[in-house]
Amino acid sequence: MPEYPEIEALRELLEARVSGQTVARAGPTHLAILKTIDPPLNSLEGATLGAPLRRGKPLLFPVSAADLVLHVHQMSAGRISVLKLGVTGPKRPAFSLTLEFGERLVMTEHGSKKRARVGLYRTGALDEGLSHLGPEAYDITDDALADALGAESRRLHSFLRDQRALAGIGCAWANQILNRSKLSPYALSGKLGADEVRRLGVAIRSSLSEGPDARRAGKSDKQVYTVYKRLDETCPTCAAALAQVDFEEHTIFYCQPARPTDGCSRIGDYPEFFGSSTTKQSLTMDVVLPRVLSTRRAAATPNSRISVPPRTPRAFSWIG
Ligand SMILES: [Zn+2]
Repeated sequence: MPEYPEIEALRELLEARVSGQTVARAGPTHLAILKTIDPPLNSLEGATLGAPLRRGKPLLFPVSAADLVLHVHQMSAGRISVLKLGVTGPKRPAFSLTLEFGERLVMTEHGSKKRARVGLYRTGALDEGLSHLGPEAYDITDDALADALGAESRRLHSFLRDQRALAGIGCAWANQILNRSKLSPYALSGKLGADEVRRLGVAIRSSLSEGPDARRAGKSDKQVYTVYKRLDETCPTCAAALAQVDFEEHTIFYCQPARPTDGCSRIGDYPEFFGSSTTKQSLTMDVVLPRVLSTRRAAATPNSRISVPPRTPRAFSWIG
């Protein structure tokens, strides 16, 4: 799932490889991902691509002479590559642009769900479509982060993935950032102290600064992620075993130290989860959360994965 580090590294690659080139052929495009019909996509043909821009996760290709901008959003399963002349590409690309010297910008999308998006807009017409995006995460100031955190109280993992709150972070980097900040994915955004906000800000900026460097160097997911998809490996911060909780659309990886230490925060560090069971919801939480904690205690077994069924129980809905 490409997020800011991957998309920024890709944007730089595309700037070097495709900007300044004339489009020889626009398309084909999978019908499910083409979101506009006017202006038609073939309006790009004969026009010169400007340097690509990025806003959050979408990429924007300005075509100034034609007063157009091409919007490409890979979503979770789309992947963009630039194919040299003569290289055989996928039989049915989700989207393809053939450039003047025969190179092709190609997007593929694996899986049956077509969620990637491509649209051609007149300059300025896209502004409203991007207006829901929050501030860019990679250079967020502590003050702006505090404002975003306080706007709506929710679990930190959900907050970080919400493009309306902060633009550019998804599931993988949310796990990385929360681990680095020593904050629980279940902590409430509106209840962080000033020091916790500062730690989160430092973790966001440092993670999203190092991430593009690693991707520019060609590092793989396994080389880049130290928490994400590292079930039962040790936490890079406190050396406790990492646990995993699956939800319908995302997965949380986090560490659960056995004792309160100066290492990572535990769910139990947030007393509202273990408060009196006077309401139905808190009673449900009391029932559900020990299941998660028991995962940590069972970490010596080969697999401590918990799968939440597709119909997410209400008790989990506050996380997702
Ligand atoms: Zn830890």
